[in-house]
Amino acid sequence: MKAIIFLIFIVFVFLIIRFTLNRIIEIRSKQQPLEDTPATDKSTTSESMVQCAQCGVHLPQSNAYYDGKDTFCSEGHMQDFHAKQKSAE
Ligand SMILES: [Zn+2]
Repeated sequence: MKAIIFLIFIVFVFLIIRFTLNRIIEIRSKQQPLEDTPATDKSTTSESMVQCAQCGVHLPQSNAYYDGKDTFCSEGHMQDFHAKQKSAE
């Protein structure tokens, strides 16, 4: 009778170890691709919004004009913004 309890205990411990190892492998395999491509993953699920520096309208990053420092809703606003900056100097 004791031998059966011991056997069940061994099987139980074995199952816990297997379950834990599977969890660790699962978490690691899920984390690695996310760490490799965080930007592309975000853009596919929910595209990040940017604000036009000229008029303040919000638009998807893929539709925005970027001059290396600020984002704009249109090429015209990019030019307007740069003209305004030049005149301010
Ligand atoms: Zn604008």
